[in-house]
Amino acid sequence: MKVSRYTTSPPFDVNTYVFEIDGTLYVIDPGEGISQFVSKPVVVLVTHGHCDHISGILELDVRGLFISPEDAFTLTDPAANLSSDFMDHSVIVDLPWENIDLHFRTLKVPGHTKGSRFIIFDGVVFTGDTVFADTIGRIDLGGSEEKMKTTLKKVKEFFKNLPEDWLVCPGHGEITTVGDLLKRNIFLGR
Ligand SMILES: [Zn+2]
Repeated sequence: MKVSRYTTSPPFDVNTYVFEIDGTLYVIDPGEGISQFVSKPVVVLVTHGHCDHISGILELDVRGLFISPEDAFTLTDPAANLSSDFMDHSVIVDLPWENIDLHFRTLKVPGHTKGSRFIIFDGVVFTGDTVFADTIGRIDLGGSEEKMKTTLKKVKEFFKNLPEDWLVCPGHGEITTVGDLLKRNIFLGR
């Protein structure tokens, strides 16, 4: 599967990922500016409901929107999606959404937000802001330290059971592989 990465939502520099499966174009975490790169109809998948990851949704021709039920309320709540604190305009995505867990392979990874998810396809894991190449996501933006601790144990086991050459595609920063991640990320250290 060929995955394209675009940098969106400056200055937050979100990684927005785009790929096609069976003629359907999927966009993960469309940040502001994504319409420069994508103009066809798309299905949108969201790792978590922070403004920098959802602020480009309305730029797109959306044929389906999938997010966790715990984070779905943030789509229309500028305080919860943090646009009222971090952006000069409110992000309100008033579109129908569906429960991502019922339609896609996900892993529940609460901690950065209540409803954070890994989204898993064959050969690639989209980790949102829960796990980056060298570090993990903040817990002070609507998340929980307790939950993050439990999540990290679960995530470590999850990655240990995946092939080392699978791609790990985080919400910010560089793309890595499962093998590389387990070596370099001290939060997932052996
Ligand atoms: Zn975030």
